[in-house]
Amino acid sequence: MAPETQAGPGGAALPLPPMKWNAWGDPAQAKELSAEVKGLLAAALGVTGDAAPGPEADEAVLTPSRIDAEDLEALARAVGKEHVSAADADRLPRAGGKSTPDLLRRRARAAQDAPDAVALPGSEEEIAAVLALCAERRIAVVPFGGGTSVVGGLDPERGGLRAVLSLDLRRLDRLHSLDETSGEAVLGAGLTGPAAEALLAERGWELGHYPQSFRYATIGGFAATRSSGQDSAGYGRFDEMVRGLRVVTPVGVLDLGRAPASAAGPDLRQLFLGSEGTLGVITAVRLRVHPLPAVKAYEAWSFPDFTTGTDALRAVEQQGTGPTVIRLSDEAETMVNLAMTEKIGGTPAVSGCLAVTVFEGTAEQVAARSELTRAVLLAAGGTSLGEAPARAWEHGRFNAPYLRDSLLDAGALCETLETAANWSGLAGLRFAVTAALTEALPGALVLCHVSHVYPTGASLYFTVVAALGEEPLERWAAAKRAACDAIVRSGGTISHHHAVGADHRPWMTDEIGDLGVRVLRAVKAELDPAGILNPGKLIP
Ligand SMILES: Cc1cc2nc3c(=O)[nH]c(=O)nc-3n(C[C@H](O)[C@H](O)[C@H](O)COP(=O)(O)OP(=O)(O)OC[C@H]3O[C@@H](n4cnc5c(N)ncnc54)[C@H](O)[C@@H]3O)c2cc1C
Repeated sequence: MAPETQAGPGGAALPLPPMKWNAWGDPAQAKELSAEVKGLLAAALGVTGDAAPGPEADEAVLTPSRIDAEDLEALARAVGKEHVSAADADRLPRAGGKSTPDLLRRRARAAQDAPDAVALPGSEEEIAAVLALCAERRIAVVPFGGGTSVVGGLDPERGGLRAVLSLDLRRLDRLHSLDETSGEAVLGAGLTGPAAEALLAERGWELGHYPQSFRYATIGGFAATRSSGQDSAGYGRFDEMVRGLRVVTPVGVLDLGRAPASAAGPDLRQLFLGSEGTLGVITAVRLRVHPLPAVKAYEAWSFPDFTTGTDALRAVEQQGTGPTVIRLSDEAETMVNLAMTEKIGGTPAVSGCLAVTVFEGTAEQVAARSELTRAVLLAAGGTSLGEAPARAWEHGRFNAPYLRDSLLDAGALCETLETAANWSGLAGLRFAVTAALTEALPGALVLCHVSHVYPTGASLYFTVVAALGEEPLERWAAAKRAACDAIVRSGGTISHHHAVGADHRPWMTDEIGDLGVRVLRAVKAELDPAGILNPGKLIP
């Protein structure tokens, strides 16, 4: 799959990431805000005018590259001259991820920090050679997958070293093997979600990992961040799909995971799932796959309030009735989504809290699972809304990030954060995070949904919309700090699926304790003695 290119300052030497450098996704898909939404913004947040436009790519100013000619020659020897560049046009689109603070920084006219060079290795041998020369030359290495991190996981931090290299892994884009007897596929780390699914679908198989960033994020990135997709109720989180991993570290290659299960000591795969490029470069992942589902069924539900809806989802998950997707929006999110979602097939008006269920499998499995689920949701106080709202949700499920860019253009800040807790602590967690956010950003709209469910608990996903106002980066940073402190105080996890990166790192000691941090540091010292791998991320 040939990556698209985009024009940039000085002319790009390398294929560029397919996303626009300062916005989400494909510029052709950018979404205009409807008059209804603009009216809502004016009424709820007092946002009326448009924000000042940021620089175009050819106007963006970058901090000068610190890589020298000898470094570039050494990198060219490792990966080939055509796969290395220190041009601004190649550095700029790899300057960071796609959080709202990332996008706000790209809109600023001040100099943008960026990696000093970019390399695109094509094999494990080339990655090992790059890591060796970077250790020798004191160059930090930031593995780059799809570039969709929302936690500062790609920030070009040098960590006291001379320079920083973005190691773009897109050339690791093969389906290495498919074992149809066992239902396992080995996929290259650089394959994007759609590319991986297309290769599997040609043979009648599916992975079933659909995070909202699906169109751009990669197999390696999913593993490195312990991603969770919207079909997690049916197919599990990404880390649950992983059967094996290959990882190139500065001191050697690890090939982990054999047999469907093992009692041969601690499971070392778990060290690399969620390691966010700090311990090694994941090159290939062996994953559980399933035959493409023959049948899909949809049903949406309305619940009078969030507590009733949450109890209903808990009952479904604890009874194991088997939906592939199950999620619940609170009252505010239900109202806002209704204003923003494209209407399909006469979507009925929804009040209260909207829940969506989707079922996949054979006709018999889908019939049985939807009947069982339906009975539980009815008994728990739900009212069926039929198929249309659930189909509308699926139809638009990858488009919401475009709205964030349109909101920024219109002068509204929109950002998300997520956490998880046991069912017994979920209401308290939601209350504490909402209170922290609204206190830090008076007048902000705070929306929430249950995005992933487990027998013992669930994740909560918050969306915050506020007027951009003065110093939005500082105001958001204060709100995020308050929300993270509230999460820790309420017993939630600092991240259910966005990972830690630079942004959540200050809360890692709360999450795993001093001893836990020392364990991670010891592992890093063993695998990355020169400290070149993604400094400033994950490990305090
Ligand atoms: C709009 C939007 C929606 C999102 N929705 C979801 C969602 O629904 N669910 C979810 O889980 N996440 C979501 N995310 C977060 C993000 O997409 C995930 O964290 C994703 O897994 C990152 O994959 P990536 O390939 O883009 O990795 P990148 O962003 O390129 O990298 C993420 C981190 O992993 C490291 N890394 C990447 N590849 C490798 C590798 N091969 N080896 C070692 N380290 C590596 C990087 O150094 C970095 O620290 C969303 C993000 C955005 C912007």
